[in-house]
Amino acid sequence: MSAATARPTEAELAGFRDRVKAHIAEHAPPFEAREGHRAPVTAEQEARLRTWFASLFDAGFVGGDWPVEYGGRADHHPLHDRIVSEEILRARAPRPVDQVNLAAHVLLHFGSDEQKSALLPRIRSSEHVWCQLLSEPDAGSDIAAVRCKGTRQPDGSWVIDGQKTWITDGHWADMGLALVRTDPSSSRHHGLSAFVVPLTAPGIEVRPIRTINEAIEVNEVFFDGVTLAADSLIGEPGQGWSIIMAGLDFERFGIGGNVILLELLIDDLVTVARHGRIDGMPALQHEDIRHQVAELAVEVEVAKAFIDDHVERMVAGAEQTGDGSIAKLSFAETYHRVSAYGAQLSAMVCTVADPDVAQAKQRLKECWLWSRAYTVSGGSSEMMRNILAKRRLLLPTR
Ligand SMILES: Cc1cc2nc3c(=O)[nH]c(=O)nc-3n(C[C@H](O)[C@H](O)[C@H](O)COP(=O)(O)OP(=O)(O)OC[C@H]3O[C@@H](n4cnc5c(N)ncnc54)[C@H](O)[C@@H]3O)c2cc1C
Repeated sequence: MSAATARPTEAELAGFRDRVKAHIAEHAPPFEAREGHRAPVTAEQEARLRTWFASLFDAGFVGGDWPVEYGGRADHHPLHDRIVSEEILRARAPRPVDQVNLAAHVLLHFGSDEQKSALLPRIRSSEHVWCQLLSEPDAGSDIAAVRCKGTRQPDGSWVIDGQKTWITDGHWADMGLALVRTDPSSSRHHGLSAFVVPLTAPGIEVRPIRTINEAIEVNEVFFDGVTLAADSLIGEPGQGWSIIMAGLDFERFGIGGNVILLELLIDDLVTVARHGRIDGMPALQHEDIRHQVAELAVEVEVAKAFIDDHVERMVAGAEQTGDGSIAKLSFAETYHRVSAYGAQLSAMVCTVADPDVAQAKQRLKECWLWSRAYTVSGGSSEMMRNILAKRRLLLPTR
């Protein structure tokens, strides 16, 4: 990563924000990002997404934190990433695929020079979209239970057998970052290794999973005698656990920008409550509804306040144990509560044929259907509570 630069002034940050907004206005694809419908559904959409992601790298708005030799910016500051993420969400433009950043982070920290030179430019150009091949049917919350097996061959290559599941973007990704058990006598987090997997390799089958929102975002991925070249291994055999955990830690920073999604949810909720009518009156004139909307708005402000504080502490290097878990828990649970109430209210009110209100109702429904994805993926809310109980509160655990 580039050396830490001085904190930009407020004027510099405002100028940066203006440049990001102008870039979005000029380059974002002409379709709105829909929660739970992030993956492209046509070849044209996929081409537009790839061009859009590449434009963000070219402009230095994504991957700005990479070393300059690999395309990063010398003047990058973590607050820039937050601004980019906020403005993309506010514009309802498609977000870059998280897994791409995660893979880049892992390659930059643990990849060989050959892997970096071969793979990083293809991430920047969006020739390669990546996915994360970690979870398995019996290894989700307990990821150390991974059973997918990698066997080293006499010529140094590896043969992979097993199954991964819930793989976001697996159906259109080109490459995957896989966690595989390479020492058959090992257990738990020992004996695991990290690999670069081309999704076109013979023996890989990707089976899309249709979710409750009628979308294909996640997939099962089967490995049946898949041969990977010796240089597909990242780092050393057995280093997989620390490599993947370092990557997952990095994911937390993205949560900061996501709070904008909560603001957007409240906007839609207020639109429906203001324009929808119950018993002939605008819903917001009913006291119980007014109170409920106000209470949820307060929850959103609390979540935002924590994230603001968390981001500042991360920038200052003053994070506390469990901060990432609080950020994830607070975002995911608030998102679920607001969207669930929004969907419920949408079903209760009568609305005039106003396209803005219809769109707000549709978005609230889609967010609600997707809300459980946030409380499960990347570590469930229960696991976040466990981490907080154990590491932050030092409570006894079973
Ligand atoms: C939308 C979505 C996208 C995803 N994308 C990816 C991806 O790209 N790559 C990837 O590798 N994985 C991905 N996942 C998988 C995700 O990481 C797992 O679903 C998650 O870790 C939970 O694992 P599980 O589904 O096996 O549930 P389980 O681990 O079986 O958990 C089931 C329930 O039991 C609870 N539970 C489990 N253990 C405990 C405990 N010790 N204490 C208290 N409660 C517990 C959980 O909180 C949960 O409610 C994705 C999942 C979703 C939903």
